Amino acid sequence: MGVPCREIKADWGAQRVRGLSIVKTILHIFKKLFSSSKSIAQREIETSLIEQFLYPKYGPGQMWEKVAEEIKNADGKIYLNHRVVRLKTNGYRIISAVVEKVDSGEEFEIEADLFFSSMPIKSLIKAMTPHPPAEVQEVAAGLIYRDFVTVGLLLKKLKVQNKSGLRTINNIIPDNWIYIQERDVKLGRIQIFNNWSPYLVKDENNVWIGLEYFCNEGDYFWRMSDKNLVEFAINELVKIDFIEKEDVLDATVIRMPKAYPAYFGSYDRFPIIKEFLDPFGNLFLIGRNGMHRYNNQDHSMLSAMVAVDNIVNGLKSKDNIWSVNTDSSYHEEKS
Ligand SMILES: Cc1cc2nc3c(=O)[nH]c(=O)nc-3n(C[C@H](O)[C@H](O)[C@H](O)COP(=O)(O)OP(=O)(O)OC[C@H]3O[C@@H](n4cnc5c(N)ncnc54)[C@H](O)[C@@H]3O)c2cc1C
Repeated sequence: MGVPCREIKADWGAQRVRGLSIVKTILHIFKKLFSSSKSIAQREIETSLIEQFLYPKYGPGQMWEKVAEEIKNADGKIYLNHRVVRLKTNGYRIISAVVEKVDSGEEFEIEADLFFSSMPIKSLIKAMTPHPPAEVQEVAAGLIYRDFVTVGLLLKKLKVQNKSGLRTINNIIPDNWIYIQERDVKLGRIQIFNNWSPYLVKDENNVWIGLEYFCNEGDYFWRMSDKNLVEFAINELVKIDFIEKEDVLDATVIRMPKAYPAYFGSYDRFPIIKEFLDPFGNLFLIGRNGMHRYNNQDHSMLSAMVAVDNIVNGLKSKDNIWSVNTDSSYHEEKS
């Protein structure tokens, strides 16, 4: 189910731990032994080493609820459960988007002056009409994504004990997430939602965790029934001594296609797509799959903000949008 490390490009690693080095990590450990910074901003600390961060009470969805409210207050319209299925172009201009209502299949067309796209580039190129040149279509069709299944488990308690010395509600282990290294389980990471925000759990006596599996859409894991996935997940946690089976109160399964844009497949030839799309003056690629870039939420939002600034300032080049999350001067490396 996994991808051998030798098939993953160094770009990916460089981007994930940019600014971090072994020397900085060791220095950080020593500094921590002698002082403890309580500053939330943690400006002096590399992102990979931060130990505290602000998190919305009910999760980041709250931000988007607020954004949606602002859009509606400004008489904007949001179409939920609709999919862009075609983008009509004329030369290097997008004229309109043909949108399909997901539940009924009903289609309608929206004309606009400006288009921001956070849909997967693979789908964007496929949707463009007239069709882009064959080479562009070929590279887009060859882009690969990693897909994601998460199994949520509501538990009476964890078996694993808090020996960290850190105080937590109900003394559960203090981690937000834990990467799982054991070779005999498929589980990649565990989230402990109580520690993200206690408000995410209805009864604070229970523990609400998410088991994360990285797979490919349509593979045997993806196609397993929810019931079998839950059983599989529980057995894995019992195997690594994390929980007792009888403590499971409830479970849910969520499958998320295209969770990760991959840096293999036709990614080497990605500049062909970029060179084709950049000249479309009223199209702005933003976000994670929108740029086929391993962007986090902050990078994704920043790419959109830079795009808007460019429009406001009449800047035609899109280079500064592509620089988000690659440029060493990007604000994540705090000065
Ligand atoms: C398991 C996991 C954990 C993560 N944890 C963190 C974290 O802790 N911190 C962090 O900063 N980031 C995290 N990320 C990354 C973060 O989720 C992404 O960076 C962010 O969601 C990207 O925002 P976006 O707007 O580009 O894309 P998305 O949030 O994916 O939004 C794109 C939207 O476009 C829609 N769409 C797709 N195709 C079409 C179409 N044809 N027509 C219309 N709409 C379409 C999709 O349904 C989706 O709603 C995590 C990601 C994963 C998968």
